[in-house]
Amino acid sequence: MNELFASLCVRKLDVPVLNPPQQLPLFLSSSFSFDRIEEGVDIFTGKQEGYVYSRYGNPTIEAVTRRLEAMEGFGLDMDIQGYLTSSGMSAIHLILVSLLGQGDKVLTQANLYGGTTELLTRVMSGLGVETVFSNLNDLEQIESQLKSDPAIRVIYLETPTNPTLSCLDLKAITDLAHQYQIKTVVDNTFCTPYLQRPFAYGADFVIHSTTKYLNGHGTGIAGLVLGKDKSFMKDRFWTVLKLTGATCNPFDAWLVANGIRTLPLRMDRHSANASLLASSLADHSGVDLVNYPGLASHPSHSLASRQMSGFGGMLSFSVSGGQATAFRVMNQLKLASLAPTLGDVDTLVLHPATSSHLRIPKAIREEQGITDGLIRVSVGLEDATDLITDFHAALDCALVEK
Ligand SMILES: *Cc1c(COP(=O)(O)O)cnc(C)c1O
Repeated sequence: MNELFASLCVRKLDVPVLNPPQQLPLFLSSSFSFDRIEEGVDIFTGKQEGYVYSRYGNPTIEAVTRRLEAMEGFGLDMDIQGYLTSSGMSAIHLILVSLLGQGDKVLTQANLYGGTTELLTRVMSGLGVETVFSNLNDLEQIESQLKSDPAIRVIYLETPTNPTLSCLDLKAITDLAHQYQIKTVVDNTFCTPYLQRPFAYGADFVIHSTTKYLNGHGTGIAGLVLGKDKSFMKDRFWTVLKLTGATCNPFDAWLVANGIRTLPLRMDRHSANASLLASSLADHSGVDLVNYPGLASHPSHSLASRQMSGFGGMLSFSVSGGQATAFRVMNQLKLASLAPTLGDVDTLVLHPATSSHLRIPKAIREEQGITDGLIRVSVGLEDATDLITDFHAALDCALVEK
């Protein structure tokens, strides 16, 4: 009796799907079964399509990936192959490891996402891959570096940059890279494919931390790598992904699927709110500088207007009075939260000098505009008037306290 009960409990459950569920099913299964062993052999050897094991592929993850490929390639006549990964960082690591080996070099900018700089200088360096920093706004400098150093195999870039929102000319840089047979990898996390599609400007690979705007709700960590060389992606890249096990899990993929359905609505509102908040901050007497590409005063305004279809939800501003004033402002905010991420529905603030850019020497940091008084804002979906009121009240209060 008990033995039979145990067998009943243990036995695999079948799902009789008579008609399809309206929402994407979450396939929480590490493996997939075969009717007959011959079928298993055919799937393993690639003679027949099918699932084997979720580290190799999973229906939930693949459904989301197909949608993300279509989004990043939207309006472009390109066949794009993507893979979801366990985080934005693993996405970056995987593409670099897939493209580069001992003796190769990466050309990049100094103002990358902090984790990416550390990955390059503390992990990739150990694999014999050297990083060469450049001012990617200076095409002549890039060209002379490419000319003099044939070991440079990849240009890795981010635009707009964190946290000063300065932009790089994707078309000009990829054109130059291609003259020297160099691949370009673009981190498109801040824009999402709704605001900027780097493949349109010639990029070879696009990566994302889907943790940010694509998930959009701050509920999961995942990453994405997309490439237009389908055979490279399906062969070399997938092999590295599968064998390093940096695969996305189905639940985080499912959360991304949920997030992207409202992406255009959210990005429009993030952009509109950020634009209003940026202008209002620029008018406050306690604010020295506002970095937002939508402001006509921002150095990248005209490039951003050409390259992006909206200016996004990220901005930063600096207060007179340095770190002490910045901290007072941040502690006074009621609506905005202090949290070290971005792209969530609610407004988040961060102090780059003591968090994301803590490990960067002060002189280099300040050269890039990351001063002690700088506050980064991931502008959320609240009512814009409420947000403006919150920031102005915090600024007024902080300045009186001084
Ligand atoms: C957050 C972030 C990453 C890293 O992504 P994780 O999902 O945290 O691993 C990389 N690039 C940018 C621009 C980011 O904002």
